[in-house]
Amino acid sequence: MTGILGAGMSGLSAAYYALQNSKMAPIVIFEATNRVGGWVRSIELSDGTIFEQGPRTIRPSGASGKNTLELIEQLKLSDKIIPIRNIHPASKNRLIYSDNELHLLPSTFKGIIKKNSLLNRSLLSLVWNDLRAPKVLKDDESTYSFIERRMGQDVADKVISSMVCGIYAGDAHKISIKSLMKPLFDAEQKHGSIIKGIILEQLSKNKNKTTVRKKTETIKNDDTEINKQLDNNSHKSLVKTSQDDFWAMWGIKGGLEELPRSLAKNITERGVNIKMEHKCEKLKFNKNDVELTVNGEVKNYSRIISSLPAKSLANLVREQHPELSNELKDIPTVTVGVVNLQFSESVLPMKAFGVLIPPKEEKPILGVIFDSCAFPQNSKTTVLTVMMGGAWFEKYFGKCSSEEHLLTVAVNQVKEILHIEEDPKAFSVSILKDCIPQHIVGHMQRLTRIQNYISTHKLPLGLCGSSYQGVSLNDVILSAKQAVSDINSHIL
Ligand SMILES: Cc1cc2nc3c(=O)[nH]c(=O)nc-3n(C[C@H](O)[C@H](O)[C@H](O)COP(=O)(O)OP(=O)(O)OC[C@H]3O[C@@H](n4cnc5c(N)ncnc54)[C@H](O)[C@@H]3O)c2cc1C
Repeated sequence: MTGILGAGMSGLSAAYYALQNSKMAPIVIFEATNRVGGWVRSIELSDGTIFEQGPRTIRPSGASGKNTLELIEQLKLSDKIIPIRNIHPASKNRLIYSDNELHLLPSTFKGIIKKNSLLNRSLLSLVWNDLRAPKVLKDDESTYSFIERRMGQDVADKVISSMVCGIYAGDAHKISIKSLMKPLFDAEQKHGSIIKGIILEQLSKNKNKTTVRKKTETIKNDDTEINKQLDNNSHKSLVKTSQDDFWAMWGIKGGLEELPRSLAKNITERGVNIKMEHKCEKLKFNKNDVELTVNGEVKNYSRIISSLPAKSLANLVREQHPELSNELKDIPTVTVGVVNLQFSESVLPMKAFGVLIPPKEEKPILGVIFDSCAFPQNSKTTVLTVMMGGAWFEKYFGKCSSEEHLLTVAVNQVKEILHIEEDPKAFSVSILKDCIPQHIVGHMQRLTRIQNYISTHKLPLGLCGSSYQGVSLNDVILSAKQAVSDINSHIL
C-alpha cells in the first residue's frame, strides 16, 4: 500500500507512475486542501479570459520537457496544446527594464554581435571576458558571483539577477549556480571556461552521435522495407512535432490547470483514491511499515512518497528523525504576490514574453508577463500578470500586506514601466505564501546528505516536488517519476 502526500503536479504524477507497478497498489493520495493542482491554478473570467495564478508556459526541450510531452500524449491532451514557436514574438522578445528604459535582449546572431543598449557592449564581448577569466575550483557558488567573475558585473546585475527573479523569484546572490546552471558550472570546473567547456562537450556529443548513427544505418540498410512500413504506420509523436515545428514553449487551451485536472481524473479512474481535506500531521517509520497521522487518525502504509514542500515534510518527521528534519527545514522558500490585470484595449508597447526588472532597480515588482501576447484570448483586450515580492517580499510589503495594497502597487508600476494610461477593467490578486523553494548555495550537497540519510536508515520514503531537483513543472513531473523508480528499486 502506497501513501502519497500532496496532490499538486508532482504528487499526482507520482501516483500516475506508481500505477505502472502493480506491487505499489493500492495507492492513496492525501491532500490538505479541497482541490488538486497545488500552485497550478487557472481562473476563467465570464468573457472566457484566463488568469493564471501560477505557471502558464512549459518548455518542450531536454529530457524533462520530452517526458512532460509524453505524459500529455498519454493523457490524450495533445489537441489542447497551444504551441509557441521560436519565431513568435513571445518567444523571441524578452525585455529588461533598467535605468528607466525598456531594453530588448538580443535573439539573433546580428543582435549578439551588435552593441546592445542594456550592457552598452556586444554579447560577443562576454566570450572574451570568459576566455580570459581564471579558473577557480569550487564546490558551489552563488549564481551572481559565478557570472560576475566570468562575464562581468553588468551581466550579473542586469541579465542574470533578472533571470533568477524570473525563475525563482529569488536573489542571485543566494541561488546556487550548481543547481541553476550545472552545465556552466561543470564547464569551468572541467575546462576552465564556460565557452570552451560548452564547445568541447558539444563536439564530444556530436562524435558519439555519429558513431551511433553509423551503427543504426547499417542495421537500417538490412531491413529498409520493414522500417519504411513502420514509419508509415506510426503516428508522429508530440515530442517529434515539437522539434519539427520549432516549439519554444507551450500552454494549454483553457489554462494550465487542465493538466492536473486531467491527471487526477485519469488516476482516479484507474483506482487511485484522492482524499481531499486530509492534512498529514506526522510520519513514524516502523520496522515493516510507516504510520501516517492524518486529521488525527493513524493509518499504516508500506511506503510513502512525499511531494510536500521540504519545510512541511520537516515538521512531519521532526520527532523521530531530527537530523533529517533539520536538513529539510533548511531549504528556504519565498512568497510571491501575483496580480492579474485585464485591459479593454491593446495597451502594450510591443509584443514580447514580458519584462523583468533587475533587483538593483529597487522596484517593488519582479516582472510583468504579457499573457495575451503568448496566448491571445480576445482580439482587443490585453492580459498581464505582475509578479511581486519573492526574496524581497518583506522589504516591500512587510509581514501582512493587504491584497488592495498589492493591486495599487502593481497598477502604478505597470503604468510607469509600460507607459499604460488606462485602468484595468478586471483584476485578481493573490499572495502565494512560501510558493517557490530556493535552491541556495550548497543545495546539491544537502540533497546528497538527505538521500544518504534515507538510504542509511532504510526509510521507505521517496521525495519529489519543487524543493529538490528543479522548480519548473517539467522538473517536478520528472522528479515524481524518479522517486517512484527509486522506491521501486530499493524497497520492492
Ligand atoms: C507564481 C508561480 C509561477 C510559476 N510559473 C511557472 C511556469 O510558467 N512554468 C513552470 O514550468 N513552472 C512554473 N512555476 C513552478 C510550478 O508551478 C511548481 O514547481 C509546481 O506547481 C510545484 O508542484 P508540486 O506538486 O511540487 O508542489 P505544490 O504545487 O506545492 O503541491 C503540493 C501539494 O501538497 C499539499 N500539501 C501541503 N502540505 C500538506 C500536508 N501537510 N498534507 C497534505 N497535503 C499537503 C498542498 O496543498 C499542495 O496541493 C511557477 C510557480 C509559481 C508559484
